[in-house]
Amino acid sequence: MELDFKQYKLIVESTPNMIWRAGLDAKCDYFNRTWLKFTGRTIEQEIGDGWTAGVHPDDYNKCLQVYLESFAKRAPFEMEYRLRRFDGNYRWINDRGVPVYDDEGVFTGYIGSCMDVTEKVEGQLLKEQAQKDGLCHIYNRYYLDKLLEHHSETVRQQRSCLAVIMLDIDNFKLVNDRYGHAVGDIVLQQVASTILESISKTDICGRYGGEEFLVVLNNTSRSQAIEVANRIRGRIADKTINSNVAGSNSVSVTVSGGVSYFQRNDSVKDFIQRADQGLYLAKRSGKNCIKTVDNV
Ligand code: GH3
Ligand code: MG
Ligand code: MG
Repeated sequence: MELDFKQYKLIVESTPNMIWRAGLDAKCDYFNRTWLKFTGRTIEQEIGDGWTAGVHPDDYNKCLQVYLESFAKRAPFEMEYRLRRFDGNYRWINDRGVPVYDDEGVFTGYIGSCMDVTEKVEGQLLKEQAQKDGLCHIYNRYYLDKLLEHHSETVRQQRSCLAVIMLDIDNFKLVNDRYGHAVGDIVLQQVASTILESISKTDICGRYGGEEFLVVLNNTSRSQAIEVANRIRGRIADKTINSNVAGSNSVSVTVSGGVSYFQRNDSVKDFIQRADQGLYLAKRSGKNCIKTVDNV
């Protein structure tokens, strides 16, 4: 069955997807009814670059960059950005654009199709937030515990190795008492980023408690783990933190650490407990040092 123009039009105008078209100059010259219903704007407002007025200011540069760079290369693109809906709310849009060629193979512009994927994107963001510590933006204890359960199983099966470093800021209560809680928070953030800078991409760092951090080192021997722990300790001790809050306080802190090396019959609890015992020993030995109670 041949579709006539009216039927094609009905399909394009009624599809649940938001459809747009752009000409050779990358300016849009068509939006379907679904798009216009979504934005609550007229086609006159949307054509040309008009549609970009609805793009969220934080997504604007990235959105235009992907669009124009793909256009210049005549490459298909897929991107997500927030677009203002008729009710003023911004919604996450998945926008896929492809270059279009006529029957003679001549490039005529782009056609794009968009969907509202807000629920999916926000679900993903929530999932990420649930794994992260709100202050330091590193993993939280819940995530670390899950990760260690998973890793310990792999280590048991594959006989690879795993180590953790438990770090605790020395005399942190004094920092809060002397400079205030806000400065304490900045110190926590700076310690977290110093740890991140000192470890490799395959290592995981998280906030285990108030001023306690845990570093999980995959495929790392005991001596390497001690070396990493001392590197972190040294960098933190060398750093002067400029808090920029309450005048220009310069704060320095040190950390103590306990290293524990996973043994085959370990439970995660034993494994962490030995790191804790190492940390306790480090505190008893005068702080600003790394200890282990493992003797393998
Ligand atoms: P030690 O060297 O033995 O570890 O002494 P400490 O003072 O670091 O340890 P203590 O356990 O006595 O105090 C920890 C302090 O950490 C007390 C608490 O107020 C502070 N703290 C915990 N979480 C936060 C936070 O999120 N922000 C700030 N600013 N302080 C926090
Ligand atoms: Mg402490
Ligand atoms: Mg502590």
